[in-house]
Amino acid sequence: MKHNNYEVAHVIQRFGDEFVKKHHPNTWTTRTLNALQICRTAALGGHKERCDHCEKIRMSYNSCRNRHCPKCQGLKQAFWIEDVSKRIIDTKYFHVVFTVPEQLNTICLLDSKRFYSILFTSVWQSLRTFGYTHYGVESGALAILHTWGQNLSLHPHIHCLVPAAGIDLLGDMKKISKKGKYLYPVKKLSIEFRSNMMKRLKKQLKVNNQLTKHQSLIDKVWAKDWVVYCEPSFADADRVIKYLGQYTHRVAISNHRIQNITKSFVSFFYKDYKDNGRQKPTKLKGVEFLRRFSMHILPKGFVKVRYYGILSNRYTKQTAMYRKPPKMVIDNETSQQRILRLTGFDIYKCPFCKKGHMHTIEIIPKIRSPVRFLYTIN
Ligand SMILES: [Zn+2]
Ligand SMILES: [Zn+2]
Repeated sequence: MKHNNYEVAHVIQRFGDEFVKKHHPNTWTTRTLNALQICRTAALGGHKERCDHCEKIRMSYNSCRNRHCPKCQGLKQAFWIEDVSKRIIDTKYFHVVFTVPEQLNTICLLDSKRFYSILFTSVWQSLRTFGYTHYGVESGALAILHTWGQNLSLHPHIHCLVPAAGIDLLGDMKKISKKGKYLYPVKKLSIEFRSNMMKRLKKQLKVNNQLTKHQSLIDKVWAKDWVVYCEPSFADADRVIKYLGQYTHRVAISNHRIQNITKSFVSFFYKDYKDNGRQKPTKLKGVEFLRRFSMHILPKGFVKVRYYGILSNRYTKQTAMYRKPPKMVIDNETSQQRILRLTGFDIYKCPFCKKGHMHTIEIIPKIRSPVRFLYTIN
């Protein structure tokens, strides 16, 4: 499918100026776009390396490490999977997805930080209530916010990993689920979630004197059926963490989906869920691509992966005996050793002869950016 090496960074380089002029993004957005466009370029500096076998030379530039960068997620994902394995309770898990109707996008764009916080709180409140009413336990969740749908559209939803266990009022761990298959009746859970979310949103709008303006929209969304999706079968902790790892470090669009960048368009593949998830090509004007991409830049410091109930730190002591001991304890591991152990990839191995190892022979300092930086226009 992939014939080229187009990247989000190239889209920013080509259409960034036009996007800034047309849409006046805030400083946080331009800063993020700038980080992405210079990732692994001379602008960030790096080092010159030589192979100790074939003596070939390569330049290795530093990465931006921004959490919205499609190039910087692979390793983070491997590290995350290992870290989270240590703290997760050893049981089976359900995958539950909470989605809000798209009509609420208008409200989301008023103050996305507030909106996403309300979304998280409402999701956990609903799960927690059901844990108590259905099984009499404090349950738990590992929740991950995604803001995009296909075509880079705004589609806020939360993926939850829910352990099939909880702690009862006596402090004992109890298995939960109906016949090992179902967690909660999803229709009822959807209603609970809608009610939790809408109450909080209304309250927030009222505080900001915006309720009257949006009342008819609120009424419409109340009248809709909300959909909570729960995967009926479930897997054990290890498999689920690996599976979830793909979700935690995903960005709005990965580079391999970008097919072409022309004078005014970006074409890319999307998954058509109405057609068995088939990959299909589509295109957007470059500026529109960036406008949509920017909607998925999270507010500064916003925590997009959260641990609730028995998975939260508050329960560390009580759940210690139910966690898997780490597979091995390694002291003084360098990040290169860790990458090698987790991914099997040796970052110092020579890519040319595949025998020797690369050694740094020169440090290259950061230079003034060869690409044009974007600035916020007010
Ligand atoms: Zn070599
Ligand atoms: Zn990067």
